[in-house]
Amino acid sequence: MVKKIDHIGIAVKNLEDSLKFYQDTLGLELAGVEVVEEQKVRVAFLPIGDTEVELLESTDPEGPIAKFIEKKGEGIQHIAYKVENIEEAIKEMEEKGVRMIDKTPRYGAGGAKIAFCHPKSTKGVLVELCQRDDD
Ligand code: ZN
Repeated sequence: MVKKIDHIGIAVKNLEDSLKFYQDTLGLELAGVEVVEEQKVRVAFLPIGDTEVELLESTDPEGPIAKFIEKKGEGIQHIAYKVENIEEAIKEMEEKGVRMIDKTPRYGAGGAKIAFCHPKSTKGVLVELCQRDDD
């Protein structure tokens, strides 16, 4: 049901500082930065091949990324899989017994429609389903 890895979400304390590694050391190109108010996060997009690394910096000490870093430190926060139809994918996941954090899609960085699955249903990984209409 999933098509490919859409992106990998990595929680960082400081975007500019982390970008040094991704841009200067790995040689990735920064495609843009966006603030997603609803998720209290500032996102940097670094495309690689037909997928993307997304660096996530919290804009609020109470935000989900700040809390993640507080608990686990910086690192991989979620894996996003591309789906063609997110409403259908959510339905299918629920039919297969997966607990969804989002039962309806919400706005994701880059104009995507996204929904998170509960890590208790996915062997400990925060899985995001992601639909993009531009490709
Ligand atoms: Zn994501």
